[in-house]
Amino acid sequence: MGRDKATNQLKDYEKKNNGTDVLTTGHGAPVADKINSITAGPRGPILLQDHVLIEELAHFDRERIPERVVHAKGAGAFGYFEVTHDISKYCKAAVFDAIGKQTPVAVRFSTVGGESGSADTARDPRGFAVKMYTEEGNWDIVGNNTPIFFIRDPLLFPSFIHTQKRNPVTHLKDPDAFWDFISLMPQTTHQVSFLFSDRGTPVGYRHMNGYGSHTFKLVNSDGKPVYCKFHFKTDQVKMLGPIGSTVLASNIRYKRKFRDLYNCIAGGEFPSWTMYIQVMSFKQAENWTFNPFDLTKVWPQGEFPLLPVGKLVLNRNPQNYFAEVEQIAFSPAHLVPGIEPSPDKMLQGRLFSYNDTHRHRLGPNFDQIPVNCPYRANVRNYQRDGPMTVLGNQAGAPNYFPNSFSGPNQTRRGEMVEFPATGDIGRYNSTDEDNFTQAGVFWRNVLNDDEKERLVDNISSHLCNAQKFIQDRAIKNFSCVDPEYGRRIQENINRRTKRSEGNMVHQSNL
Ligand code: NDP
Repeated sequence: MGRDKATNQLKDYEKKNNGTDVLTTGHGAPVADKINSITAGPRGPILLQDHVLIEELAHFDRERIPERVVHAKGAGAFGYFEVTHDISKYCKAAVFDAIGKQTPVAVRFSTVGGESGSADTARDPRGFAVKMYTEEGNWDIVGNNTPIFFIRDPLLFPSFIHTQKRNPVTHLKDPDAFWDFISLMPQTTHQVSFLFSDRGTPVGYRHMNGYGSHTFKLVNSDGKPVYCKFHFKTDQVKMLGPIGSTVLASNIRYKRKFRDLYNCIAGGEFPSWTMYIQVMSFKQAENWTFNPFDLTKVWPQGEFPLLPVGKLVLNRNPQNYFAEVEQIAFSPAHLVPGIEPSPDKMLQGRLFSYNDTHRHRLGPNFDQIPVNCPYRANVRNYQRDGPMTVLGNQAGAPNYFPNSFSGPNQTRRGEMVEFPATGDIGRYNSTDEDNFTQAGVFWRNVLNDDEKERLVDNISSHLCNAQKFIQDRAIKNFSCVDPEYGRRIQENINRRTKRSEGNMVHQSNL
């Protein structure tokens, strides 16, 4: 009673194993005593020759690898992607070769700002990263549960993240820093409106959508490119969290729901998502009202309809969290023939940053770790050596290029499509590129009255903790989205301020 699949993990392990495993050292030698160290006499001291003890402590001392700076808290699962619709007229990628074709996948869901041990229930975007193990290399879509992001230039990213994390002195979340940055950068308004809406507290990973978020380029077998967005819509009945995250974090009933990804998969109930693309021609991109490479904007579905592509199904839990989830290394730069980057500035920054992080966290040979290994492709190149070279180091193949000795050769299959890029080199100011129109559509056309009320309340309950001049600047931005939006936040904050002043008077009377 009350024990779910997650709680029973050890019990289930015990059932499957017959208890005949022999304990060994790391080098495989049998161990006779794992309780008592070798000592001179019963009271010690301990002898340096106790390899069993020394190996145990030394390995323990090295158990942690650097935590991800963002997306540290996460969960993963494995499964497959199956093509249901032919998109070969847009894309030559092997993964889309034929209807019915299945490709193995790994997925990691996460929160963004919190540490590895932080609450699953935080008001935060959720990471939604998919690795497809294709026969032409691993293809990663490293997205979120929102189709947009707070900023459009990667130069802002470290500062933005610092404001979402802990104050360097108090080690607490800082409402001044949070709202200072957001109000100084009105391009954040659209995503902030998503974040404080019901979608900012999804009830569980199975119940949320995933978006590739960036604009990518698809190329067909004739070399013809189009721009594209990727969407994964959850097939599970949506249950979005209508309650503020403070309540959620302290509510056991909600906490339990976050075990449900593991429990559902373990119980044979496999979550799935339908994958769609939106497509924009190069000509449309030239003439479209907005910059189609701006990560703070969506492509309206009326103009760029969702085209179904396939199903993503998760049917296996990780066999080990550290091996398969902590060490999994996604990168927007992991693209395959037929899928290319667009000029999206945020994407361009991430193309560098992710692999840089993996080299730091996991080492230069991170792609030899089993969960990262492109095992369905035959990796042949001129990279050699380095820490943790575990896959044979390409044996006797030539380690320089070009060579006359049958080393791996270039192929036209890997060629990128050429496209024109012109313009004077400079730092172009993009801070005012229409920060409010789409947030206005969201406020007026997408949210119903109850959702608006909760959005206003969620923003106000957070913003009221910042200083007055920061509140005023933030409210000005929300008013630019829609005067009613700003007015209602102002009124809500006024009510809260009045209440807390009343409380202070009351307290001082005590
Ligand atoms: P549509 O009416 O065609 O699409 C509206 C979108 O809003 C749907 O994709 C729906 O996503 C999503 N949505 C519905 N309720 C909520 C909610 N409470 N919080 C967040 N998203 C919600 O209009 P447009 O494509 O023209 O977009 C209108 C506005 O909708 C945009 O300006 C943007 O703010 C927002 N939006 C647009 C998306 C897009 O890709 N075009 C995606 C998400 C939001 P779903 O069907 O997955 O529930």
